[in-house]
Amino acid sequence: MGRLADMRADLQSLFAASRDSNADDEHDPEGQTIAYERSQLTALIRKAEAQLADIDAAWLRLERGRYGICDVCREPIPAGRLEARPTARTCVRHAATH
Ligand SMILES: [Zn+2]
Repeated sequence: MGRLADMRADLQSLFAASRDSNADDEHDPEGQTIAYERSQLTALIRKAEAQLADIDAAWLRLERGRYGICDVCREPIPAGRLEARPTARTCVRHAATH
């Protein structure tokens, strides 16, 4: 858990740094590229954040003995689905509701 928290803190400081630096990009010849790269990085960070949140949630369920159990019907999630998507919270039947 500590490692995940560290990773999250790193991501957040990276995110803050990319947001705060050089607001005047548009007037810089390289500003457009930098702005584009920044938006790509931001998207990547948001995705990583979402994945970390999923992993955190899966870890919590594991600690509570509820990992691999569908949130909706409480039936065990098939091993094949967990293999494809280790952070799945529902069985295939109830996947659409999340
Ligand atoms: Zn279910």
